[in-house]
Amino acid sequence: MDFAQRTIDLARQNVAEGGRPFATVIVKDGEILAESPNLVAQTSDPTAHAEILAIRAACTQLGTEHLTGATVYVLAHPCPMCLGSLYYCSPDEVVFLTTRDAYEPHYVDDRKYFELNTFYDEIGKPWQERRLPMRHEPRDAAVDVYRLWQEKNGGERRVTGAPTA
Ligand SMILES: [Zn+2]
Repeated sequence: MDFAQRTIDLARQNVAEGGRPFATVIVKDGEILAESPNLVAQTSDPTAHAEILAIRAACTQLGTEHLTGATVYVLAHPCPMCLGSLYYCSPDEVVFLTTRDAYEPHYVDDRKYFELNTFYDEIGKPWQERRLPMRHEPRDAAVDVYRLWQEKNGGERRVTGAPTA
């Protein structure tokens, strides 16, 4: 099966139905494990990007938060939120079918605190320099929550079972 074409078809169908031009197909062992279009327009959920929804479905189905052994097809190079979620689930490979430069003449989704072209730089800045107003309010009791977690995790501070490099 042409998984790239499936990704395009899914996104095309979504646009035809009033959705946004994005889709994700997650493949494991030569079969589609999960897939989703972007459902932000349909649900008013700003996190309902195709990658997030497909990762959620794939992980729920496998009963794990890790997608090692999987290939993730995405219509466009992922936004920082989705890129972060892809880092978290550790797939073998991410295949993107368009770049921002290629789709920018046809689709732009700038927001109050970023433009398509500044988003990645924005994320990399120290928090004080980001356009999103952030305030650090230090509380010892907040750190205590982590102590409690470590205690309940047998004194170990690492999350067990996570694939590491
Ligand atoms: Zn995204």
